[in-house]
Amino acid sequence: MSELQSKPTEPAKRRGICFVLSAPSGAGKSTIANALRASQKNLSHSISVTTRPPRPGESDGVHYHFITQEQFEEQAKNGDLLEWATVFGKSYGTPKAPVEQQLAEGKDLIFDIDWQGQQQIKAALPNDVVSIFILPPSLEELQQRLINRASDHPNEINKRMDAALNEISHWKEFDYVIINNKLDLAIHEAESILSCERLKTKRQIFLKSFTDSFSR
Ligand code: 5GP
Repeated sequence: MSELQSKPTEPAKRRGICFVLSAPSGAGKSTIANALRASQKNLSHSISVTTRPPRPGESDGVHYHFITQEQFEEQAKNGDLLEWATVFGKSYGTPKAPVEQQLAEGKDLIFDIDWQGQQQIKAALPNDVVSIFILPPSLEELQQRLINRASDHPNEINKRMDAALNEISHWKEFDYVIINNKLDLAIHEAESILSCERLKTKRQIFLKSFTDSFSR
């Protein structure tokens, strides 16, 4: 039985958090997301659907669910997606059912989605979403990071650089912003935000019944 299907052994003490990370390509979002998943218990990755083909090293059901455009349209039409967007000419979306189940079980989820997805998911789950925008230290540094990436074709780098300017223009719509100048510090800042958000009073469902039991 997968972790997703297993029943919780006790009621969730708080509802899970949707921890949304957005950034222009090359700002270090995936590295920060991977570090958070490695250091944090109870934090898993929301696996998106996409119509883009897998890159070398990517597996279906791990990095993405790789589906056809027809399947994507069917899922969107049936209301199976929490949000979706077209990015670099391909469709990306977040399956709704696993998110709802995991939040109800008190499990935190990390989302690597773009600004359009952040807007939609925040509208759908306003109390559950905490969003962070990750900025590169400068546009020159961003361009250099994109050039250094082996997997991106030169045409792709130019397209991503143009898209970066558009993505960056949305940074003010997010709850937090981190400048990824020093990776260790950026990871530490993301961990700190997550810790504080987990402790927020409004999320502590179990404390209400606990204090009710001795209130006069
Ligand atoms: P990549 O193809 O490089 O994995 O992702 C390209 C862009 O699509 C990234 O900015 C990523 O954050 C975004 N993306 C990935 N999954 C989703 C999703 O489910 N929804 C939205 N809105 N964007 C996504």
